[in-house]
Amino acid sequence: MTKSAKEFLSPTPLTGTTGIRGTHWIKHEDGKRLWLVLDRQDVAVNTFNEPVFRELDALLDEVEGGGWEAVIFRSAKQSGFAAGADLNQFKGLKGNDEIKAKIEEANAVVDRVAALDIPTVCVAHGICVGGGLELALACDFIVAREDASFGFPEVLVGLHPGLGGTARLTHRIAPVEAMKMMLTGKTKKAKKAKRLGIVDLVVPERDISNAVNAVLTGKVERKSPGAMAGAMNFYPARVAIARQMRAETEKQAPSEHYDSPYALIDLWEDHGGSLDDMLAAERESFANLLPTETTQNLIRVFFLRERLKANGKGKSGVEHLHVVGAGTMGAEIGAWAALQGMTVTIADPSREALGKAMKSASKLFERKLDGPELLAARDRFIPDPKGDGVVSADLIIEAAPERVDLKHKIYAGLEAKMKPDAVLATNTSSLDLNELAKGLKNPERFVGIHFFNPVSRLELVEVVKQDKSSDAAYETALKFVGDISRQPLPVKASPGFLVNRALMPYLGEALLMIDEGEQQERIDAAAEDFGMPMGPVELADQVGLDICLAVAESLARDLDRPMPEIPQWLRDKVAAGELGRKTGKGLYDYGWDGKPKKDKVKQAPTEAMRDRLVLPLLDAVARCIDGGIVADADSADAAMIFGTGFAPFRGGPIHYARSRGFTDVRQTLAALADEYGERFEPSAWWRKAEG
Ligand code: NAD
Repeated sequence: MTKSAKEFLSPTPLTGTTGIRGTHWIKHEDGKRLWLVLDRQDVAVNTFNEPVFRELDALLDEVEGGGWEAVIFRSAKQSGFAAGADLNQFKGLKGNDEIKAKIEEANAVVDRVAALDIPTVCVAHGICVGGGLELALACDFIVAREDASFGFPEVLVGLHPGLGGTARLTHRIAPVEAMKMMLTGKTKKAKKAKRLGIVDLVVPERDISNAVNAVLTGKVERKSPGAMAGAMNFYPARVAIARQMRAETEKQAPSEHYDSPYALIDLWEDHGGSLDDMLAAERESFANLLPTETTQNLIRVFFLRERLKANGKGKSGVEHLHVVGAGTMGAEIGAWAALQGMTVTIADPSREALGKAMKSASKLFERKLDGPELLAARDRFIPDPKGDGVVSADLIIEAAPERVDLKHKIYAGLEAKMKPDAVLATNTSSLDLNELAKGLKNPERFVGIHFFNPVSRLELVEVVKQDKSSDAAYETALKFVGDISRQPLPVKASPGFLVNRALMPYLGEALLMIDEGEQQERIDAAAEDFGMPMGPVELADQVGLDICLAVAESLARDLDRPMPEIPQWLRDKVAAGELGRKTGKGLYDYGWDGKPKKDKVKQAPTEAMRDRLVLPLLDAVARCIDGGIVADADSADAAMIFGTGFAPFRGGPIHYARSRGFTDVRQTLAALADEYGERFEPSAWWRKAEG
């Protein structure tokens, strides 16, 4: 291979290659083979939009008339092959005809690739998902570099693949596996993708050229899905399997709120027997989904996540994290950071807590990793009963019990040993950061890094500055959160920050309803009907009743507005050690599987119950925006979705209020205030927002 071709095959941005650069594609002639390298202008990650497809379309004219022996697709970006369609183009599309025309145009280009009468290969590294995978599937062969991952995450934004992916994947590999991949949105690493039959070869970078030769010279046989798997594409089998899939999907994404998984199942059930039929029907189904409110809201949520991500951009420089306290939160934070590549030492006076933390971390690693990566993650997570890790840690996160005196004592011990430039953070939910900073020798390096439970599922982390925190320490904290793939939200030091302040009126109202004799399963059902992933009663147990009580008390003490009264029986429960899921007993009893034992809901919940629960949450968010605790309404929406699981298809609490009508929300709150008391009095923010 010539030097320039070698450079060319490197995934680093192309400088000084002999390729001919267009706007988004680079054309490289390699004897009789033509390499088409995607390098979308001005972005770090390749995505597809009209200009990218139009340029490819023009290149295909040259391919068809050029006497080439093969075409090979590749990307010039470090990040990978391509992340799919640029979702910006799906915002605010008007009318179905416009949508359909755009979808047809893009599909025509991908279909052209599939129809080329010379062999086509896609060489994928890094991310190859959504439209990226659809272009790859239109090729005859896919060669994956070892770090490649493949998937169809469209369902997460209320869609399914729309560039032929549903048809081509269900015909390339076992259709049930293909459907599972599309229904869950989960990605598969290169080796797994090879086992499934998505890719033909997995090789390191240095062997890519040989791999391309091998597939083009017929040395690699395409893995067939097998007769058994293929039989699943026959109609009677599809009907039976589709029924099962609907029942499974209903548990994760109820059909009342989410359309796209069901549209996908219908598509395969009705058209899975024929590649061409399914290709045609897929476009229709995709065009129908795109303008729906749910899909537009989920696309909005995608951009809200990007917005949060931007808060933590850049490397923090933290390589070693030391965690103090291996309870519910410390164990989760430490394990997650180790999974994401940090060296983590974790200290706790309780050997039992440390043992439990090691066990649960191991489970997390096994779920997410295998082979040498699994062993490496285990090595990175180090129990440290004496706290020896403090001296070398770049960041220390304290997750000890919620007591000021105890935390002060812990900080004194840490400050005597920690590196001068290390950052000290607390995970406190309810204590005043300025109070905690008192007595510190170096209060400028002290910040709040507030995670949510469970860390592996809730992406949000509130990052809090106290009066004396330095900008440098705060920046490190924000970037650290980004480093471990969580989304940082800057919030002002204030009681409950944003998320707990918004959640507590909702949880508190649920406790009052129990007090009034309401069945707790019915209360949960009211919130679940609204679209919450779990109801407030179950959530209180999940957070821990002791933590809930501490937060509720601090809010009642520190906020100048009435909160739902805390029932005495809740205090008694906490005193008796019935703290929720973590102790096996709280508002519900818990089985060995950690799931609450719930009775059947005796009577369907009402809309009024829903409003009584959800509107105080909305109102608290409005107050936080008004008080500058969070920067703006979009950040608040993002926080509630990624910190509590607030019904994503509703686009966030304020977005929901906007679609319902700010005036309606304000008036309903006022009516609730008349019925139940001052705590429902609407914030002044609503009138301002009404404009
Ligand atoms: P927890 O009771 O589950 O764990 C606390 C751990 O700290 C225990 O294992 C205990 O043995 C250990 N500990 C006690 N004294 C210690 C010391 N001197 N040094 C080191 N460790 C010590 O509590 P948790 O729920 O993990 O909460 C910890 C902190 O995280 C609190 O500040 C809480 O407000 C905050 N938080 C909790 C949640 C939640 O959902 N539980 C969420 C966010 C933040």
